[in-house]
Amino acid sequence: IGNCLEINSCKKSDIKQGRRIMEKIQMTTPLVEMDGDEMTRILWKMIKDDLLLPYIDLKTDYYDLGLEHRNETDDQVTVDSANATKKYKVAVKCATITPNAARVKEYELKEMWKSPNGTIRAILDGTVFRAPIVVKGIEPCVKNWKKPITIARHAYGDVYKNAEMRIPGPGKAELVYTAEDGTETRELIHNFTGAGVIQGMHNLDNSIESFARSCFEYALSTKQDLWFASKDTISKKYDHRFKDIFQEIFDAEYKEKFAEAGITYFYTLIDDAVARIMKAEGGFIWACKNYDGDVMSDMVSSAFGSLAMMTSVLVSPHGYYEYEAAHGTVQRHYYRHLKGEETSTNSVATIFAWTGALRKRGEMDGNAELSAFADRLEKATIATIESGKMTKDLALITTMENPTVLNSRDFILAIREELEK
Ligand code: NAP
Ligand code: MG
Repeated sequence: IGNCLEINSCKKSDIKQGRRIMEKIQMTTPLVEMDGDEMTRILWKMIKDDLLLPYIDLKTDYYDLGLEHRNETDDQVTVDSANATKKYKVAVKCATITPNAARVKEYELKEMWKSPNGTIRAILDGTVFRAPIVVKGIEPCVKNWKKPITIARHAYGDVYKNAEMRIPGPGKAELVYTAEDGTETRELIHNFTGAGVIQGMHNLDNSIESFARSCFEYALSTKQDLWFASKDTISKKYDHRFKDIFQEIFDAEYKEKFAEAGITYFYTLIDDAVARIMKAEGGFIWACKNYDGDVMSDMVSSAFGSLAMMTSVLVSPHGYYEYEAAHGTVQRHYYRHLKGEETSTNSVATIFAWTGALRKRGEMDGNAELSAFADRLEKATIATIESGKMTKDLALITTMENPTVLNSRDFILAIREELEK
Protein backbone atom coordinates (compact mmCIF):
# COMPACT_ATOMS: atom_id res chain seq x y z
CA ILE A 1 0.00 0.00 0.00
CA GLY A 2 2.96 2.26 0.65
CA ASN A 3 2.14 5.92 0.27
CA CYS A 4 -1.39 5.30 -0.80
CA LEU A 5 -3.42 6.25 2.27
CA GLU A 6 -6.86 6.01 0.72
CA ILE A 7 -6.98 2.45 -0.49
CA ASN A 8 -10.03 3.12 -2.65
CA SER A 9 -8.13 5.74 -4.56
CA CYS A 10 -5.15 3.48 -5.33
CA LYS A 11 -4.26 4.04 -8.93
CA LYS A 12 -3.17 1.42 -11.42
CA SER A 13 0.18 3.21 -11.51
CA ASP A 14 0.68 2.48 -7.81
CA ILE A 15 0.21 -1.18 -8.52
CA LYS A 16 2.52 -1.11 -11.53
CA GLN A 17 5.17 0.52 -9.40
CA GLY A 18 5.07 -2.53 -7.20
CA ARG A 19 2.85 -1.10 -4.49
CA ARG A 20 0.98 -4.22 -3.65
CA ILE A 21 -2.70 -4.15 -2.73
CA MET A 22 -2.90 -6.32 0.34
CA GLU A 23 -5.45 -9.05 0.42
CA LYS A 24 -8.03 -8.39 3.07
CA ILE A 25 -8.26 -10.61 6.12
CA GLN A 26 -11.30 -12.86 5.85
CA MET A 27 -13.84 -13.44 8.61
CA THR A 28 -15.86 -16.62 8.92
CA THR A 29 -18.43 -15.59 11.54
CA PRO A 30 -19.90 -12.09 11.89
CA LEU A 31 -19.65 -10.10 15.07
CA VAL A 32 -22.54 -8.03 16.35
CA GLU A 33 -22.06 -4.33 15.69
CA MET A 34 -24.06 -1.89 17.85
CA ASP A 35 -23.80 1.63 16.49
CA GLY A 36 -24.44 4.55 18.84
CA ASP A 37 -24.77 8.28 19.29
CA GLU A 38 -23.20 11.70 18.95
CA MET A 39 -19.40 12.14 18.78
CA THR A 40 -18.68 8.46 19.29
CA ARG A 41 -20.92 7.67 16.29
CA ILE A 42 -18.73 10.01 14.20
CA LEU A 43 -15.56 8.29 15.49
CA TRP A 44 -17.15 4.88 14.88
CA LYS A 45 -17.45 5.56 11.15
CA MET A 46 -13.92 6.97 10.91
CA ILE A 47 -12.48 3.93 12.68
CA LYS A 48 -14.29 1.58 10.33
CA ASP A 49 -13.42 3.53 7.17
CA ASP A 50 -9.79 4.27 7.97
CA LEU A 51 -8.60 1.47 10.24
CA LEU A 52 -10.72 -1.61 9.60
CA LEU A 53 -12.37 -1.81 6.19
CA PRO A 54 -9.12 -1.35 4.23
CA TYR A 55 -7.67 -4.44 5.93
CA ILE A 56 -10.52 -6.72 6.89
CA ASP A 57 -13.38 -8.18 4.92
CA LEU A 58 -15.50 -7.08 7.85
CA LYS A 59 -18.57 -9.19 8.53
CA THR A 60 -20.96 -7.70 11.06
CA ASP A 61 -24.56 -8.15 12.07
CA TYR A 62 -25.39 -4.44 12.29
CA TYR A 63 -27.82 -2.85 14.78
CA ASP A 64 -28.34 0.88 14.91
CA LEU A 65 -28.67 1.76 18.60
CA GLY A 66 -28.62 5.48 17.80
CA LEU A 67 -31.37 7.12 19.86
CA GLU A 68 -33.53 7.98 16.84
CA HIS A 69 -33.65 4.38 15.73
CA ARG A 70 -34.24 3.08 19.24
CA ASN A 71 -37.20 5.45 19.37
CA GLU A 72 -38.51 4.35 15.96
CA THR A 73 -38.37 0.68 16.95
CA ASP A 74 -39.74 1.21 20.48
CA ASP A 75 -36.31 0.07 21.68
CA GLN A 76 -36.82 -3.36 20.08
CA VAL A 77 -33.48 -2.89 18.28
CA THR A 78 -31.64 -2.98 21.62
CA VAL A 79 -33.28 -6.26 22.56
CA ASP A 80 -32.56 -7.66 19.07
CA SER A 81 -28.90 -6.70 19.33
CA ALA A 82 -28.57 -8.46 22.69
CA ASN A 83 -30.24 -11.58 21.31
CA ALA A 84 -27.91 -11.50 18.30
CA THR A 85 -25.02 -11.42 20.79
CA LYS A 86 -26.31 -14.69 22.22
CA LYS A 87 -26.18 -16.12 18.71
CA TYR A 88 -22.76 -14.84 17.60
CA LYS A 89 -21.18 -14.57 21.08
CA VAL A 90 -19.12 -11.44 20.33
CA ALA A 91 -20.36 -7.85 20.09
CA VAL A 92 -18.83 -4.40 19.84
CA LYS A 93 -20.82 -1.41 21.03
CA CYS A 94 -20.53 2.32 20.45
CA ALA A 95 -21.45 4.65 23.32
CA THR A 96 -25.16 5.48 23.44
CA ILE A 97 -27.32 8.16 25.02
CA THR A 98 -29.24 7.11 28.10
CA PRO A 99 -32.26 9.39 27.81
CA ASN A 100 -33.20 11.82 30.56
CA ALA A 101 -35.90 14.52 30.48
CA ALA A 102 -33.72 16.84 28.37
CA ARG A 103 -33.07 14.10 25.80
CA VAL A 104 -36.77 13.25 25.57
CA LYS A 105 -37.34 16.85 24.44
CA GLU A 106 -34.24 17.08 22.25
CA TYR A 107 -35.09 13.91 20.30
CA GLU A 108 -38.89 14.13 20.65
CA LEU A 109 -38.94 10.65 22.17
CA LYS A 110 -42.09 8.59 22.59
CA GLU A 111 -40.79 7.45 25.98
CA MET A 112 -37.78 7.86 28.22
CA TRP A 113 -36.17 4.65 26.96
CA LYS A 114 -34.07 2.70 29.42
CA SER A 115 -30.29 2.59 29.39
CA PRO A 116 -29.24 0.28 26.52
CA ASN A 117 -26.42 -1.07 28.66
CA GLY A 118 -28.92 -1.98 31.38
CA THR A 119 -31.18 -3.73 28.86
CA ILE A 120 -28.29 -5.64 27.30
CA ARG A 121 -26.87 -6.63 30.69
CA ALA A 122 -30.25 -7.91 31.82
CA ILE A 123 -30.45 -10.17 28.74
CA LEU A 124 -26.84 -11.39 28.73
CA ASP A 125 -26.39 -11.53 32.53
CA GLY A 126 -22.80 -10.59 32.93
CA THR A 127 -20.07 -8.83 34.78
CA VAL A 128 -18.39 -5.67 33.51
CA PHE A 129 -14.60 -5.59 33.43
CA ARG A 130 -12.88 -2.23 33.08
CA ALA A 131 -9.21 -1.85 32.33
CA PRO A 132 -7.01 1.15 31.50
CA ILE A 133 -4.87 1.27 28.37
CA VAL A 134 -1.35 1.94 29.57
CA VAL A 135 1.03 4.02 27.42
CA LYS A 136 4.40 5.63 28.09
CA GLY A 137 4.02 9.34 28.66
CA ILE A 138 0.67 9.04 30.41
CA GLU A 139 1.91 7.98 33.82
CA PRO A 140 -0.35 6.63 36.58
CA CYS A 141 -0.45 8.72 39.76
CA VAL A 142 0.63 5.61 41.68
CA LYS A 143 4.20 5.32 40.52
CA ASN A 144 4.66 1.56 40.94
CA TRP A 145 1.62 0.72 38.77
CA LYS A 146 3.28 -0.59 35.63
CA LYS A 147 0.53 -2.79 34.21
CA PRO A 148 -3.23 -2.28 34.00
CA ILE A 149 -5.45 -3.12 36.94
CA THR A 150 -8.78 -4.51 35.80
CA ILE A 151 -11.81 -3.96 38.01
CA ALA A 152 -14.63 -6.50 37.84
CA ARG A 153 -17.77 -5.10 39.40
CA HIS A 154 -20.69 -7.25 40.47
CA ALA A 155 -23.64 -5.40 38.98
CA TYR A 156 -26.53 -6.73 41.05
CA GLY A 157 -28.05 -6.02 44.46
CA ASP A 158 -26.61 -4.87 47.79
CA VAL A 159 -27.08 -1.19 48.50
CA TYR A 160 -28.30 -0.59 44.91
CA LYS A 161 -31.49 -2.52 45.59
CA ASN A 162 -31.95 -1.70 49.24
CA ALA A 163 -34.91 -0.81 51.42
CA GLU A 164 -34.32 2.01 53.88
CA MET A 165 -36.24 3.52 56.72
CA ARG A 166 -35.82 6.46 59.03
CA ILE A 167 -36.60 5.47 62.56
CA PRO A 168 -38.41 8.33 64.27
CA GLY A 169 -37.96 7.25 67.89
CA PRO A 170 -37.74 4.40 70.40
CA GLY A 171 -38.80 0.94 69.18
CA LYS A 172 -37.58 -2.41 67.92
CA ALA A 173 -36.33 -2.99 64.35
CA GLU A 174 -36.09 -6.56 63.02
CA LEU A 175 -35.33 -8.44 59.81
CA VAL A 176 -38.22 -10.81 59.03
CA TYR A 177 -38.15 -13.60 56.44
CA THR A 178 -41.49 -15.29 55.76
CA ALA A 179 -41.09 -18.61 53.97
CA GLU A 180 -43.69 -19.81 51.45
CA ASP A 181 -45.25 -22.04 54.14
CA GLY A 182 -45.67 -19.04 56.41
CA THR A 183 -42.90 -19.73 58.91
CA GLU A 184 -41.08 -16.65 60.05
CA THR A 185 -37.42 -16.17 60.87
CA ARG A 186 -36.45 -13.03 62.74
CA GLU A 187 -33.22 -11.26 63.51
CA LEU A 188 -33.02 -8.24 65.75
CA ILE A 189 -31.44 -5.23 64.06
CA HIS A 190 -31.58 -2.86 67.00
CA ASN A 191 -33.61 -1.83 70.01
CA PHE A 192 -33.87 1.88 69.38
CA THR A 193 -33.97 4.23 72.35
CA GLY A 194 -34.02 7.26 70.05
CA ALA A 195 -34.22 8.22 66.38
CA GLY A 196 -31.99 6.59 63.75
CA VAL A 197 -31.89 4.85 60.37
CA ILE A 198 -32.04 1.24 59.13
CA GLN A 199 -31.32 -0.46 55.83
CA GLY A 200 -32.15 -3.87 54.34
CA MET A 201 -30.13 -5.35 51.48
CA HIS A 202 -30.14 -8.61 49.58
CA ASN A 203 -28.27 -10.64 47.02
CA LEU A 204 -28.90 -13.93 45.22
CA ASP A 205 -26.78 -17.08 45.17
CA ASN A 206 -27.50 -17.27 41.44
CA SER A 207 -26.18 -13.82 40.75
CA ILE A 208 -23.09 -14.29 42.91
CA GLU A 209 -22.36 -17.58 41.12
CA SER A 210 -22.62 -15.88 37.70
CA PHE A 211 -20.33 -13.14 38.95
CA ALA A 212 -17.78 -15.68 40.18
CA ARG A 213 -17.86 -17.69 36.93
CA SER A 214 -17.51 -14.56 34.79
CA CYS A 215 -14.46 -13.54 36.83
CA PHE A 216 -12.81 -16.96 36.59
CA GLU A 217 -13.54 -17.14 32.85
CA TYR A 218 -12.15 -13.68 32.24
CA ALA A 219 -9.02 -14.39 34.29
CA LEU A 220 -8.41 -17.48 32.16
CA SER A 221 -9.13 -15.70 28.91
CA THR A 222 -6.72 -12.84 29.73
CA LYS A 223 -4.22 -14.98 31.70
CA GLN A 224 -4.23 -12.68 34.71
CA ASP A 225 -4.37 -13.43 38.44
CA LEU A 226 -7.70 -12.84 40.15
CA TRP A 227 -8.22 -11.14 43.51
CA PHE A 228 -11.49 -11.05 45.35
CA ALA A 229 -12.07 -9.17 48.54
CA SER A 230 -14.96 -8.43 50.87
CA LYS A 231 -15.58 -7.67 54.54
CA ASP A 232 -16.31 -11.22 55.67
CA THR A 233 -14.79 -10.74 59.14
CA ILE A 234 -17.51 -8.23 60.01
CA SER A 235 -20.30 -9.48 57.73
CA LYS A 236 -20.16 -13.11 58.75
CA LYS A 237 -23.21 -14.23 56.78
CA TYR A 238 -23.64 -11.75 53.94
CA ASP A 239 -20.09 -11.11 52.72
CA HIS A 240 -19.07 -14.56 53.86
CA ARG A 241 -21.55 -16.03 51.40
CA PHE A 242 -19.71 -14.29 48.56
CA LYS A 243 -16.39 -15.63 49.80
CA ASP A 244 -17.74 -19.18 50.09
CA ILE A 245 -19.39 -19.20 46.66
CA PHE A 246 -16.20 -18.00 44.99
CA GLN A 247 -14.18 -20.66 46.80
CA GLU A 248 -16.63 -23.50 46.06
CA ILE A 249 -16.77 -22.70 42.34
CA PHE A 250 -13.02 -22.24 42.17
CA ASP A 251 -12.29 -25.57 43.84
CA ALA A 252 -14.87 -27.49 41.80
CA GLU A 253 -14.39 -25.97 38.35
CA TYR A 254 -11.32 -23.79 37.99
CA LYS A 255 -8.48 -24.93 40.24
CA GLU A 256 -6.84 -27.11 37.60
CA LYS A 257 -7.49 -24.71 34.74
CA PHE A 258 -5.83 -21.92 36.71
CA ALA A 259 -2.82 -24.10 37.51
CA GLU A 260 -2.49 -25.01 33.82
CA ALA A 261 -2.67 -21.35 32.82
CA GLY A 262 -0.12 -20.43 35.50
CA ILE A 263 -2.41 -17.96 37.22
CA THR A 264 -3.72 -17.75 40.77
CA TYR A 265 -6.93 -16.88 42.58
CA PHE A 266 -6.77 -15.44 46.03
CA TYR A 267 -9.24 -14.08 48.52
CA THR A 268 -8.39 -11.46 51.06
CA LEU A 269 -10.07 -8.92 53.31
CA ILE A 270 -11.03 -5.71 51.50
CA ASP A 271 -8.75 -3.62 53.77
CA ASP A 272 -5.82 -5.83 52.87
CA ALA A 273 -6.69 -5.66 49.16
CA VAL A 274 -6.75 -1.85 49.21
CA ALA A 275 -3.39 -1.72 50.99
CA ARG A 276 -1.82 -4.25 48.62
CA ILE A 277 -3.12 -2.52 45.47
CA MET A 278 -1.10 0.59 46.31
CA LYS A 279 2.09 -1.46 46.51
CA ALA A 280 1.35 -3.73 43.56
CA GLU A 281 2.64 -3.52 40.03
CA GLY A 282 -0.71 -4.20 38.35
CA GLY A 283 -1.46 -6.85 35.75
CA PHE A 284 -4.29 -8.56 37.63
CA ILE A 285 -8.07 -8.50 38.00
CA TRP A 286 -9.69 -7.19 41.15
CA ALA A 287 -13.20 -8.55 41.62
CA CYS A 288 -15.35 -6.24 43.72
CA LYS A 289 -18.80 -6.36 45.22
CA ASN A 290 -21.20 -3.85 43.72
CA TYR A 291 -20.43 -0.85 45.93
CA ASP A 292 -16.69 -1.51 46.14
CA GLY A 293 -16.56 -1.80 42.33
CA ASP A 294 -18.48 1.43 41.81
CA VAL A 295 -16.12 3.38 44.04
CA MET A 296 -12.85 1.64 43.23
CA SER A 297 -13.28 1.74 39.44
CA ASP A 298 -13.45 5.53 39.60
CA MET A 299 -10.35 5.62 41.77
CA VAL A 300 -8.41 3.26 39.52
CA SER A 301 -9.43 4.95 36.26
CA SER A 302 -8.63 8.44 37.44
CA ALA A 303 -5.30 7.29 38.89
CA PHE A 304 -4.40 5.76 35.52
CA GLY A 305 -5.02 9.04 33.73
CA SER A 306 -8.08 9.41 31.53
CA LEU A 307 -11.59 8.09 31.04
CA ALA A 308 -10.91 8.15 27.31
CA MET A 309 -8.32 5.40 27.86
CA MET A 310 -10.59 2.96 29.72
CA THR A 311 -11.91 -0.14 28.03
CA SER A 312 -14.94 -2.04 29.18
CA VAL A 313 -16.18 -5.52 28.40
CA LEU A 314 -19.29 -7.34 29.53
CA VAL A 315 -18.55 -11.02 30.03
CA SER A 316 -21.48 -13.33 30.55
CA PRO A 317 -21.16 -16.63 32.41
CA HIS A 318 -22.40 -18.31 29.20
CA GLY A 319 -19.36 -17.07 27.29
CA TYR A 320 -20.77 -14.01 25.49
CA TYR A 321 -18.54 -10.95 25.18
CA GLU A 322 -19.60 -7.37 24.53
CA TYR A 323 -16.83 -4.77 24.12
CA GLU A 324 -17.15 -1.01 24.46
CA ALA A 325 -15.40 2.15 25.63
CA ALA A 326 -16.01 3.13 29.25
CA HIS A 327 -16.81 6.75 28.38
CA GLY A 328 -20.04 8.23 27.01
CA THR A 329 -20.99 9.89 23.73
CA VAL A 330 -18.85 13.01 24.39
CA GLN A 331 -21.82 15.31 23.83
CA ARG A 332 -19.96 18.62 24.19
CA HIS A 333 -17.53 17.71 21.42
CA TYR A 334 -20.44 16.62 19.20
CA TYR A 335 -22.17 19.99 19.45
CA ARG A 336 -18.91 21.64 18.46
CA HIS A 337 -18.65 19.20 15.53
CA LEU A 338 -22.20 20.09 14.44
CA LYS A 339 -21.27 23.76 14.41
CA GLY A 340 -18.46 22.89 12.02
CA GLU A 341 -15.76 23.45 14.64
CA GLU A 342 -12.72 21.21 14.88
CA THR A 343 -12.76 18.51 17.57
CA SER A 344 -9.95 16.59 19.20
CA THR A 345 -11.81 13.60 20.59
CA ASN A 346 -9.88 10.58 21.77
CA SER A 347 -10.85 7.43 19.85
CA VAL A 348 -8.49 5.03 21.67
CA ALA A 349 -11.02 3.30 23.91
CA THR A 350 -13.39 2.85 20.95
CA ILE A 351 -10.57 1.44 18.80
CA PHE A 352 -9.76 -0.98 21.63
CA ALA A 353 -13.41 -2.01 21.81
CA TRP A 354 -13.08 -3.07 18.15
CA THR A 355 -9.73 -4.79 18.65
CA GLY A 356 -11.06 -6.62 21.71
CA ALA A 357 -14.01 -7.92 19.72
CA LEU A 358 -11.94 -8.82 16.65
CA ARG A 359 -9.35 -10.65 18.75
CA LYS A 360 -12.06 -12.60 20.56
CA ARG A 361 -13.75 -13.41 17.21
CA GLY A 362 -10.39 -14.61 15.94
CA GLU A 363 -9.85 -16.80 19.01
CA MET A 364 -13.31 -18.35 18.79
CA ASP A 365 -13.04 -19.03 15.06
CA GLY A 366 -9.41 -20.16 15.08
CA ASN A 367 -8.69 -17.16 12.84
CA ALA A 368 -5.15 -16.26 13.91
CA GLU A 369 -4.81 -13.59 11.24
CA LEU A 370 -7.74 -11.66 12.61
CA SER A 371 -6.37 -11.77 16.16
CA ALA A 372 -2.94 -10.74 14.91
CA PHE A 373 -4.50 -7.76 13.14
CA ALA A 374 -6.13 -6.70 16.42
CA ASP A 375 -2.72 -6.88 18.12
CA ARG A 376 -1.13 -4.80 15.37
CA LEU A 377 -3.81 -2.12 15.49
CA GLU A 378 -3.42 -1.81 19.28
CA LYS A 379 0.35 -1.58 18.93
CA ALA A 380 0.03 1.08 16.24
CA THR A 381 -2.36 3.08 18.42
CA ILE A 382 -0.01 2.99 21.40
CA ALA A 383 3.03 3.73 19.23
CA THR A 384 1.27 6.79 17.80
CA ILE A 385 0.73 8.25 21.26
CA GLU A 386 4.23 7.29 22.38
CA SER A 387 5.65 9.09 19.34
CA GLY A 388 4.07 12.29 20.70
CA LYS A 389 0.95 12.45 18.50
CA MET A 390 -2.22 12.57 20.54
CA THR A 391 -5.58 14.18 21.14
CA LYS A 392 -6.03 17.19 23.38
CA ASP A 393 -7.20 15.31 26.49
CA LEU A 394 -3.93 13.37 26.58
CA ALA A 395 -1.76 16.35 25.66
CA LEU A 396 -3.05 18.03 28.81
CA ILE A 397 -1.78 15.26 31.10
CA THR A 398 1.25 13.82 29.31
CA THR A 399 4.74 13.94 30.79
CA MET A 400 6.11 14.27 27.22
CA GLU A 401 7.46 17.60 26.14
CA ASN A 402 5.87 19.35 23.15
CA PRO A 403 3.28 16.76 22.16
CA THR A 404 1.59 17.21 18.78
CA VAL A 405 -2.13 17.80 19.31
CA LEU A 406 -4.18 16.32 16.49
CA ASN A 407 -7.85 16.66 15.64
CA SER A 408 -10.15 13.62 15.77
CA ARG A 409 -9.60 12.57 12.13
CA ASP A 410 -5.88 13.33 11.95
CA PHE A 411 -5.25 11.24 15.05
CA ILE A 412 -6.92 8.27 13.38
CA LEU A 413 -4.93 8.91 10.20
CA ALA A 414 -1.72 9.05 12.25
CA ILE A 415 -2.57 5.60 13.63
CA ARG A 416 -3.19 4.44 10.07
CA GLU A 417 0.27 5.62 9.07
CA GLU A 418 1.81 3.79 12.01
CA LEU A 419 -0.16 0.66 11.12
CA GLU A 420 1.15 0.84 7.54
CA LYS A 421 4.70 0.84 8.86
P1 NAP B 1 -18.85 11.46 28.48
O1 NAP B 1 -19.46 11.31 27.15
O2 NAP B 1 -18.00 10.34 28.93
O3 NAP B 1 -18.03 12.82 28.50
C1 NAP B 1 -17.71 13.54 29.65
C2 NAP B 1 -16.50 14.42 29.38
O4 NAP B 1 -15.31 13.65 29.49
C3 NAP B 1 -16.45 15.02 27.99
O5 NAP B 1 -17.21 16.19 27.89
C4 NAP B 1 -14.98 15.21 27.79
O6 NAP B 1 -14.49 16.35 28.51
C5 NAP B 1 -14.41 13.98 28.47
N1 NAP B 1 -14.30 12.82 27.54
C6 NAP B 1 -14.97 11.65 27.63
N2 NAP B 1 -14.62 10.84 26.65
C7 NAP B 1 -13.71 11.51 25.90
C8 NAP B 1 -12.98 11.19 24.74
N3 NAP B 1 -13.13 10.02 24.12
N4 NAP B 1 -12.12 12.11 24.24
C9 NAP B 1 -11.97 13.30 24.84
N5 NAP B 1 -12.64 13.65 25.95
C10 NAP B 1 -13.50 12.77 26.49
O7 NAP B 1 -19.99 11.61 29.60
P2 NAP B 1 -21.29 12.56 29.66
O8 NAP B 1 -21.03 13.84 28.97
O9 NAP B 1 -21.68 12.54 31.07
O10 NAP B 1 -22.39 11.76 28.86
C11 NAP B 1 -22.75 12.02 27.50
C12 NAP B 1 -23.76 10.97 27.07
O11 NAP B 1 -23.15 9.69 27.10
C13 NAP B 1 -24.98 10.90 27.97
O12 NAP B 1 -26.15 10.97 27.18
C14 NAP B 1 -24.88 9.56 28.67
O13 NAP B 1 -26.13 8.96 28.82
C15 NAP B 1 -24.03 8.76 27.72
N6 NAP B 1 -23.19 7.70 28.35
C16 NAP B 1 -23.13 6.51 27.70
C17 NAP B 1 -22.32 5.50 28.17
C18 NAP B 1 -22.29 4.20 27.43
O14 NAP B 1 -22.91 4.05 26.39
N7 NAP B 1 -21.54 3.23 27.88
C19 NAP B 1 -21.53 5.70 29.31
C20 NAP B 1 -21.58 6.95 29.93
C21 NAP B 1 -22.41 7.95 29.44
P3 NAP B 1 -14.33 17.81 27.85
O15 NAP B 1 -15.68 18.22 27.33
O16 NAP B 1 -13.87 18.61 29.02
O17 NAP B 1 -13.32 17.73 26.76
MG1 MG C 1 -19.05 5.43 40.36
